[in-house]
Amino acid sequence: MRIGEITPRKARDFVASWPVYARDRGSPLWMNPGELKTLQESNLRGQLELVAAFSPYYREVFRREKVAVGEIHTLQDLERIPVTSKESYLDNPISFLLVVDPPDPLDVTYEITYTSGTTTGAPAPFFNTAYDMFNISLQLRRMAEISWMTPEDTVVNLFPYGSLPHIGFYRTIHFASTVGMKLVNALVGKDAPGFALHRSVDEALGLVELHGASILAGTGRYERRLIMRGEQLGTDLSPVRTLMALGDTVPEGMRDEMRGHLHGAADVFVNNGYILTECQGPFVECCEFGGNHNPAPNIYHIEILDPDTLRPLPDGEVGLLAVTHIDRRGTVLLRYVVGDLAAREGGTCPYCGRSGDRLVVRMGSTYAVRAEEVIRVGGKLVNPEAVRNQLAGVSGMVEYQLVVEKEDPRNAFSPDRLIIRMSVAGRMRQDLEEEVIGRVCEATGIRPKVEFVQSPEIYDPTLALKATRFLDKR
Ligand SMILES: [Zn+2]
Repeated sequence: MRIGEITPRKARDFVASWPVYARDRGSPLWMNPGELKTLQESNLRGQLELVAAFSPYYREVFRREKVAVGEIHTLQDLERIPVTSKESYLDNPISFLLVVDPPDPLDVTYEITYTSGTTTGAPAPFFNTAYDMFNISLQLRRMAEISWMTPEDTVVNLFPYGSLPHIGFYRTIHFASTVGMKLVNALVGKDAPGFALHRSVDEALGLVELHGASILAGTGRYERRLIMRGEQLGTDLSPVRTLMALGDTVPEGMRDEMRGHLHGAADVFVNNGYILTECQGPFVECCEFGGNHNPAPNIYHIEILDPDTLRPLPDGEVGLLAVTHIDRRGTVLLRYVVGDLAAREGGTCPYCGRSGDRLVVRMGSTYAVRAEEVIRVGGKLVNPEAVRNQLAGVSGMVEYQLVVEKEDPRNAFSPDRLIIRMSVAGRMRQDLEEEVIGRVCEATGIRPKVEFVQSPEIYDPTLALKATRFLDKR
């Protein structure tokens, strides 16, 4: 699906033609923006009442900061509540869990997922009650609707089956189930000692071929590797029509490259959704680069904040993404600063006509950049996005990582230097080195030093959902 190939009319006809979507008359996505705002603000007031009564963390914040919850009626009033930092959450995740008393039958804790580990801390638990699970299931069915999935699809789940429950693996099960499509869980990843469970890339490819998968769901990086291996092995991937490429940013060059390895299948929809534990599923595209739709504006409210003042920015400007839960019962976060830079737009989508927030492309060809990744090297501001775009289509490069360090690590005043570590397959190192230096120079104005390494030294997909593309050793 590309911009220009879809219209609001086409999207409505699609919804009408599949009973699983047509019967969803309460979908917030098809409300007009005014109706949606009324729903969001009503949900917000209900959420704040619960938080004020049952959230150990926010009760303390409201008391300390003298926040009068009863005076917060609109989404704009939210500014009266201070932002919540990642550090506060990682410090004591349990204190964000609502302790509803007396509990309703749907208040039972149903499931725990974990956030990805970050440079600022270890993975943290995120609790869902039964109420949340049912809401998330609706959210995922609407996500599938935006992505043009149907009950006739067959999805292969390529998310790692790890030792901590992450939403990538589990939400794929939920979206396939809510739509009623066939699902194969490939169980990729790394065995824990004594548990011979996981499948290799080749075995996962075998399943994709055996079941004639039309949708692959996984990280963009893993899918890229799988497709390239499939091409080498001559695997029949012709039924694949959609790549749900989540977790990593997948810029334009990489999408074209993946299509190229699928025997040039020009009509394959590479859907680079933005996935975050705090919203329990991906924001997805209705068409490539058409924006990442929040599939549940009734549950999650998105703000973009000025990184210096933490005041909300107008639509379209790049700033820190903050999430406010407006209809949750387990872990509840208000104005939670995720740590990514992004831009949003409200109103209705010009491509599919749905309401609610969409993250829009403002940096290169991706939606969000981790704020911690924007780096200063020797006085130059390096936009990692630009580097990613430059390196996405380099043939022969399997993995890469940019490292910034001091020329003399013992001397804090020595100059910075930029190193690119990379692993190579099927191409002369020297030849590749020249191309990569040229491309990085173009993106940053800095001439990097090149080091050749093995792929797992850079990124082990069995251990992390997101690769660390930049490492600051200063
Ligand atoms: Zn749209």
